[in-house]
Amino acid sequence: MTTESAAAAARATVYGYPRQGPNRELKKAIEGYWKGRVTADALRTTAAGLRRATWRQLAEAGIDEVPTGDFSYYDHVLDTTVMVGAVPDRHREAVAADPLAGYFAMARGTQDVAPLEMTKWFDTNYHYLVPELGPDTVFTADSAKQVAELAEALALGLTGRPVLVGPVTYLLLAKPAPGVAAGFDPLTLLDRLLPVYAEVLADLRAAGAQWVQLDEPALVQDRTPAELNAAARAYRDLGGLTDRPRLLVASYFDRLGEALPVLAGAPVDGLALDFTEAAAANLEALAAVGGLPGKRLIAGVVNGRNIWVNDLAKSLSTLGTLLGLAGHVDVAASCSLLHVPLDATAERDTDPQILRWLAFARQKTAEIVTLAKGLARGTEAITAELAANRADLALRACSPVTRDPAVRARTAAVTEADAHRCQQYAERAAAQRAHLGLPLLPTTTIGSFPQTGELRTARADLRAGRIGTAGYEERIKAEIQEVIAFQEKAGLDVLVHGEAERNDMVQYFAEQLAGYLATQHGWVQSYGTRYVRPPILAGDISRPEPMTVRWTTYAQSLTDRPVKGMLTGPVTMLAWSFVRDDQPLADTARQVALALRDEVNDLETAGTSVIQVDEPALRETLPLRAADRAAYLEWATEAFRLTTSGVRPDTQIHTHMCYAEFGDIVQAIDDLDADVISLEAARSHMQVARELAAHGYPREAGPGVYDIHSPRVPGAEEAADLLRTGLKAIPAERLWVNPDCGLKTRGWPETRASLETLVTAARTVRAEL
Ligand code: GLN
Ligand code: ZN
Repeated sequence: MTTESAAAAARATVYGYPRQGPNRELKKAIEGYWKGRVTADALRTTAAGLRRATWRQLAEAGIDEVPTGDFSYYDHVLDTTVMVGAVPDRHREAVAADPLAGYFAMARGTQDVAPLEMTKWFDTNYHYLVPELGPDTVFTADSAKQVAELAEALALGLTGRPVLVGPVTYLLLAKPAPGVAAGFDPLTLLDRLLPVYAEVLADLRAAGAQWVQLDEPALVQDRTPAELNAAARAYRDLGGLTDRPRLLVASYFDRLGEALPVLAGAPVDGLALDFTEAAAANLEALAAVGGLPGKRLIAGVVNGRNIWVNDLAKSLSTLGTLLGLAGHVDVAASCSLLHVPLDATAERDTDPQILRWLAFARQKTAEIVTLAKGLARGTEAITAELAANRADLALRACSPVTRDPAVRARTAAVTEADAHRCQQYAERAAAQRAHLGLPLLPTTTIGSFPQTGELRTARADLRAGRIGTAGYEERIKAEIQEVIAFQEKAGLDVLVHGEAERNDMVQYFAEQLAGYLATQHGWVQSYGTRYVRPPILAGDISRPEPMTVRWTTYAQSLTDRPVKGMLTGPVTMLAWSFVRDDQPLADTARQVALALRDEVNDLETAGTSVIQVDEPALRETLPLRAADRAAYLEWATEAFRLTTSGVRPDTQIHTHMCYAEFGDIVQAIDDLDADVISLEAARSHMQVARELAAHGYPREAGPGVYDIHSPRVPGAEEAADLLRTGLKAIPAERLWVNPDCGLKTRGWPETRASLETLVTAARTVRAEL
């Protein structure tokens, strides 16, 4: 095909769309079904209605080829597990008896049967259910869902393109089933899995699919030569099938790197590549392999992960370059639109000016259509859209929201010294010991205490105007009194105020920082029926006034023991928000860090001697490619230190992270230079303590001795044993005693009992020292 005809035929498409519906109808129907209030049939009807509405809307907007099979009741990786017949043994009976109930049992577990493990989908905040495979796994094809959903779209007169998780990614995301040796490599099952994919492809072709999309995002991560070979084999085999639709292999979230020549050389009919800034290297790499002559290229030029309007002129120029590199170029978002909210126009409270800078799924769809039109018919065909876009981008660039000169001056003036405490840890530790007078093996908690129904009701009452601010604050104070009284009675050494006033550890701060934007309806699926509303880092960040000081000082006024101040760190503030796309993440992190630094300093001035800055997201934001990690960790750790380095040597800085595996960032944890770190460890029998010791971590640490993920109360001897294990790795002068994480999801009865146990265990082990 010539360049011109490639352009003339340019089409608009997307890989997936938010599932929940404009009013979260799907969430309500599924949760109703779980409670027995909605029948399975009613749930299916609601779901089918939502799919139809989405397709119609996409088609009306001008999308030429709609995705099918991307819909899910819970998770598309779990759907793939069903499609390939890899249901774990423990769930087989339930799935056979009632496929829908069995499906949800795999996702959520039942009284007797554990669910599949859930983990993050690459570096997004979406979570998938991890396939469990072993040498005995037998795959069988079940294409029913894919075929039915394709048929629904075709029945509307639309061109549907089924979207499947590709076989290589599926296996790379899997883990050894329970009872299978940890060294088992699921990728060894590839030859068994491919015939099942072949069958599904044949079924889809028979059902009318012209194209099928196989998503292989795992190929944007660093892969071994063996893994790349597996990918080559998979697509040589699938490409070599005779009874198959045309195959499109999609990648997103980063550059393909070494996998690009592998896929470009495979006998498939098209590739979908991410061309947003994060994956910009794809452009050169594609040219370097000689492009995709004769093949279809879907260009992901509209960012599917952020909420900002596209720079249409820039995208068109990228598309123009790509025209010379493939037989045919189509336009799409960089990844499924699952990761963005549905529709920005629903945000009626947002300043209309700012609204023009936002693009949620619906607006992104329109951008894709505009770009495809521009590509097919020339810029003249989209003159008005280009002009409006240029105006919006210009206003955004010079808006006082985006650019606050005071914030810019302050960030520019940051020096190396600002991000370092003025004394080394050893000297600080001595000063802190003298100042705080804590016993050996001091006990503390991670911050939150149970978020009771009454607290949630109080917040709802406040929002609905049923109670005023004064009434609400009285309730919070009463809660703080109770939390402090309990901790004193239980004998904890460093107390917390309990975070009763916080709806969420990021939102609470986002609401109080200038430059952050909240949404009313910006729900994004986190997992299953859980949706979150990430706040938006819209402009330069500053802190108009203290955010936590009054609650912490109120708690401190009730006790003589130290009350720990409690803040969310800059990296986590970024990780759980939508970030700006008009400046490096490092710059945004620095602004947030300076705002938090003011809070840290104000807490100290108000008499707080222990301040915890939580960074549970430090590891999850780690770039997908190892080559990008050093630069990330550099700015991330600097932002943490900038937040915490303005205090006196005798003020003790704590941090907290909730994971047991952090071997790859142990140096970064060291670089935070926090005086004390608390980590999850109860389930891994203090593995983190050994890892810290192996690294030579010189500071204090509290590996958790109470697993807060279940209502189970640990036994006193069990907790004491964990402490003894911890002591083998970390000396008593540097070991803290605490739970794995915050207690907000726990009930009071088990919290009381568990913390009493924890104090008893600390006393027992202290007596043995
Ligand atoms: N301080 C927070 C809490 O206790 C920390 C939560 C977290 O690590 N996710 O709830
Ligand atoms: Zn935690």
